This record gives sequence, C-alpha cells and structure tokens, in this order.
Amino acid sequence: MSALNETHNPMLHSWIASANEEGTDFPIQNLPFGVFRRASSMEDFRVGVAIGNTILDVSAAHAGGVFTETAAAPALACCASTLNAFMALGSPAWSSLRMALSCALREGSGTQAILQNCLLPQAQAEYALPAHIGDYTDFYTSIHHATNVGKLLRPDNPLMPNYQWVPIGYHGRSSSIGVSGQSFHRPLGQTIALGATKPVLGPSKRVDYELEVGVFMGTGNVLGEPIALDDADHHVFGLCLFNDWSARDVQGWEYQPLGPFLSKNFASTVSPWVVTLEALAPYRCAWQRPLDHPQPLPYLDSRSLRESGALNIALEVWIETAIMRVRGIAPHRLSASNFRQAYWSVSQMVAHHTVNGCNLCPGDLLGSGTQSGPLPQEAGALIELTQGGKHAIALPNGEIRTFLEDGDRVIFKGSCQREGAVRIGFGEVSGTLLPARTVT
Ligand code: CA
Repeated sequence: MSALNETHNPMLHSWIASANEEGTDFPIQNLPFGVFRRASSMEDFRVGVAIGNTILDVSAAHAGGVFTETAAAPALACCASTLNAFMALGSPAWSSLRMALSCALREGSGTQAILQNCLLPQAQAEYALPAHIGDYTDFYTSIHHATNVGKLLRPDNPLMPNYQWVPIGYHGRSSSIGVSGQSFHRPLGQTIALGATKPVLGPSKRVDYELEVGVFMGTGNVLGEPIALDDADHHVFGLCLFNDWSARDVQGWEYQPLGPFLSKNFASTVSPWVVTLEALAPYRCAWQRPLDHPQPLPYLDSRSLRESGALNIALEVWIETAIMRVRGIAPHRLSASNFRQAYWSVSQMVAHHTVNGCNLCPGDLLGSGTQSGPLPQEAGALIELTQGGKHAIALPNGEIRTFLEDGDRVIFKGSCQREGAVRIGFGEVSGTLLPARTVT
C-alpha cells in the first residue's frame, strides 16, 4: 500500500485559489489524472491533472521544464493522448510525478509563473477516456447487491454457494465504454414476458444503472505469473467512478448459463478523473469478513488486507429527468452507499484475476460491481430500490420511476473524508439514456 507522505499533508495549500476552497473535489492532496482538450476544438487530447476548478496540462508543464530528476521520465510518459505509457511505468514513477506536481502547485512554488500558462478551466474542457482500455472485467463485490438481485431472480436461492469464496466476475467489452457525458440509445434485445413461451425483440423496458467503482490497472503481469495479494496495490494505478448500464429484462432472459451478455455491453461510462491509489492512502480502513462467514482462502487473505485493505469512498446516485432539465430543477439524489462495504477488496480482485496466470495490462479496467449497502436506501441500482420494478420511486417534482425513462441523466459522485485529512472527490460521471432507435 502507498504510505502517507508530504503530499497528503492537510496543511498544504495551492497557489490556485479554487483548490483551497471548502468542498472542492480537487484540493492539492488529490491530483487525479485524466485526458482532456479545449471543448469543441480540434486540439489533440492530452494528459491533465485536476486542481481546484482548473486543469494542469502536464505536457505543457513538461515543455516548460518544470519536471526534473525522477519526475522527468514520468512527465514525458504523460506527453500522450492516453495514460497507458505512464500507467506502465509503475508506482515509484507515479509517486515521483505526484510529488513534483504537489511541490509545483503549492503556495510559494518557484514554477508558478510557468504553470500559470499551462491551465485550462474545467468548464472549458472536454474529456476522452483516460486510457486505452484493452480489456474490461466486471466483478460483483457487494454481497448486499448480490443478495438483493439474487432474491428477485431466484427467491429460493438468492446467494450462490460460490459467492463467499470466489470474487465473482465476467469478461465484459471495452469497445462500448465511454467517458462521462456519454449518451446512448435504449438498447434492443430479446425479452420474454412472464408466462410467455416465446421471446420477442424490442427496446428494453428495464434500463438501469449500476453504481460501481472502476479500477484502472497500472503495471500488468506477465502471462503465467500471478500477482500476489500483497503486491496488488503496486499494480493498481487508480480508481474512478463507473456506471455499468444494464438492461434488466434482457439480463433476466439471457444470463443463464454463461452470465451477462447483451444486457451489459451496449454502454458503460467512466468518470474523466482517475484518483491514484496513493491519493487514496489516507482513506484506507480495515477489511473485515464477518466471523460467521467463510474466511477467504490463503491466497486472498493477509495481515495488510485485514489492516488496510478496504477504502472509505462515499458514493452517491443522482437523477435528472428530461422534465427536470427543461424546468431547471436540480438533480435528485436517489441513494448513497460506501465502497468500504465491499465483500471483496481491490487487491483481492487483482489477486484472484491473475491466480491462474491471466495477464492484466496497463489501462485494463476492473469494475467493482454494484456497490449497495445493507440498508434499502443504500441500493446502487433501480432494480433493488424498486424491488424489481414493483415499488415505484416518487421524485420531488411528481414524476415516478421504476426503471429509467428516455432522457434521464444519471450522475454518480464519490468522495473521501476522514478526520485529520483533507476531503478529496472523484468529480462525477454522468450519462443520458436516449430513445430506442426504430426497430426495422
Ligand atoms: Ca456490473
């Protein structure tokens, strides 16, 4: 795990005033990485670091000679349109650049005059995927979500017996992953009505979101060489917010025997900013497994996992319907949960994924699975909040929802807080459901 160092010091202030404001997601202690350009321009996308309400253009800063010594090579690797080359360098390089950025952006920095010309306000930016995602795997790490959904699909057998032993996952598709702001059409698919003997093809009537944390891999592993649990954190670059949009009626018909397929691969959305594991170090907490549950097999268990394997990340889901947007009504919060309640940790996901020798590569994305807490209001998907569509949710403007309607925009937020540390945030990930294309 990343140790605390001077970059986490809560007393640090930046010469960028907005980074010091109460409630900002991007104080100088955060320094998340993303890929941006001036909105509606033909500029090349390039690597940036969020600081307050602005973005530091890392390649422009590099050209200005700001990064020297051990920070020079990682900064050079950031002179690209994706983070992959930087991610491949490994945790000492990530740490060196973070330290250099922290020093350069601090009050009193000698490089302020140069860096002032390397900033773009976030309000004037558009984003691309932070990395080229070669492979994407989605896990299922919330036992509360697995149990709630299992009850709806298999009332007599909600939690499969392997769940408490295996960090369950499936291989998804990276081609349909987009960055925040993504909009997509309501997917078509095969569904079967209750009691019917024959399915039909048509627009999904049960489009849902899934509140997930995305894990971007840094250095990978050679095919055949597993990543041990206690090494996993050195291979993980950082975390983002992730919406794994799902068509529940398609899923219910297709998911057995091989798992989700077309119900999941029509769109998935990541937040533009990747918060490094090093930035998250102050928010680590003990990973716990209830004593009356099976304890993990030895390759998925360690002292450091037990001491600090979980991450305290508060997560929120918000909705803005088309009517709310037209009337200027602010988005409404649907639920909130916390990533620390995950049944399996990030390190367990990595160790399990590679235990058979499977190789992970820089920029690969792991989804955490829907993060639901134990309470009904902590559900991370509509299928749980509405109990399979049986109990509609009333929104403050009088609209009701069971599943998503055309024009709905779903927004996730994430943040970390702890006494003695500065609050950091993930920004947000949003996406909009458009009407189905006409069936031909
Ligand atoms: Ca999922």
